[in-house]
Amino acid sequence: MDLISILYPRRCPVCDEVLKFNKGKICDLCKNKLDFISEPRCKKCGKQIEKFEEEYCFDCRNKKHFYKKGIALLSHTSIVRKSIYSIKYNNKREYVDFYVEELIKRYKNEIDSWNCSVIIPVPLHKKKKIKRGFNQAEIIAKRLSKGLNIPMDTNTLIRVKNTRPQKEFNDIGRKKNLKDAFFVRADKIQKDREKFKKIILIDDIYTTGSTIDECAKILLNNGVKEVYYISISIGMGY
Ligand SMILES: [Zn+2]
Ligand SMILES: [Zn+2]
Repeated sequence: MDLISILYPRRCPVCDEVLKFNKGKICDLCKNKLDFISEPRCKKCGKQIEKFEEEYCFDCRNKKHFYKKGIALLSHTSIVRKSIYSIKYNNKREYVDFYVEELIKRYKNEIDSWNCSVIIPVPLHKKKKIKRGFNQAEIIAKRLSKGLNIPMDTNTLIRVKNTRPQKEFNDIGRKKNLKDAFFVRADKIQKDREKFKKIILIDDIYTTGSTIDECAKILLNNGVKEVYYISISIGMGY
């Protein structure tokens, strides 16, 4: 056992209990409580659906998305909400490891089939990033980038408006809140068209998809051909 793991033992990303050495990245009890998305999944947003005959979830049958397709690891239950809150506000960045490991284990083949050559985290406004100390989407993207062997890019898509938290709004309010929130360095895309042809956006939570859609829209308007997304969890209520 190395000194780091004695001084800073790994804790379960859900219940926060200390994990026994070499016993994985989550406790068995919590792993069983998590609601992993399984087939059948919506062919657009990746949300869990009931029937194999239905290709899309209710939301995707009724709404046009700008992104092509996406994957979420978990349904956004209360324990996942708590876990992601700890990552964001209690600085538990290492809690991301378990989720990223599961995403890669379950979906590497599918993600590889998208043939994307760059991963872009949904950016935070620089004021929020300074306040929080990091962008949680970037922490996830960095680890996915390493595991999938796809480079990460953090300076092509920029958040120029310090928006209010999306959870304060309904679907229409969310869209308004995000108006003109992002900026794309079109010059960078023009310079390396092949690299930015197909990209994967990363976020921690997908709720209505308005953030991913807003990012996808501006990227597509600036020369990107296809946008995919990956998130840790996806809301169930839409
Ligand atoms: Zn636990
Ligand atoms: Zn859907």
